[in-house]
Amino acid sequence: MMRAIFGGTFDPIHNGHLETAAALVDELNISSLSLMPSAVPPHRPQPVASAKQRLEMVEIACQQNTAFSAEDWELKQERRSYTANTLSEFKTRYPTDILLFVMGMDSLMSFHCWHQWRELTKHAHLVVMPRAGVPFNPQDQELEDFISTHLTRDKNNLAQQDSGLLYIAQTPMIDVSATELRERLQQREPHLPLPTSVYNYIREHQLYL
Ligand code: ATP
Repeated sequence: MMRAIFGGTFDPIHNGHLETAAALVDELNISSLSLMPSAVPPHRPQPVASAKQRLEMVEIACQQNTAFSAEDWELKQERRSYTANTLSEFKTRYPTDILLFVMGMDSLMSFHCWHQWRELTKHAHLVVMPRAGVPFNPQDQELEDFISTHLTRDKNNLAQQDSGLLYIAQTPMIDVSATELRERLQQREPHLPLPTSVYNYIREHQLYL
């Protein structure tokens, strides 16, 4: 079966993550999509919400789609877990599944800065969701070569091999970012692009004020 892992800071999770992920589940016939908040190393800018709160918001958001689940593996690790370790852990857990590691186009454009980035197609396919305002325009020659080596334009190929491909999905552009959303929450704007249940959690915990 197709099992997707979608990692992010999720500070907070929003419709840009959720509507695209739901469309991806349909496009690729994904049986299970794990939304996985990442631990942020101490020397990086820290998320506003705590790890527990980011996870709880993801858990609440997952209630809207039966294919979604919240994954706390990276938050539970004592040391920072790099994506390569996470995918290797998932391969051990689910050896017969085809793993898809999901990211937005902005993440692909900086992918060559990730730890052991070339190894990430060893246990999974990479699936990239287009993002409003982020053109496909790799600036790094090694990244461009990597993309052309692994790119497939036919989604059916993802089911034909266990790992090693890169597919650019046809998911809708949902023009929202967590940064913009935090600003709008601070301004106490109504009608924000996130589930009402997550909005209520944010209000209850007085986050992003
Ligand atoms: P920030 O504004 O703080 O950078 P973000 O909105 O990009 O946050 P993250 O949690 O950092 O959210 O993103 C997790 C993953 O989701 C990344 O791979 C990112 O590219 C992807 N993503 C986030 N928003 C969208 C969106 N609107 N459309 C498609 N992919 C998205």
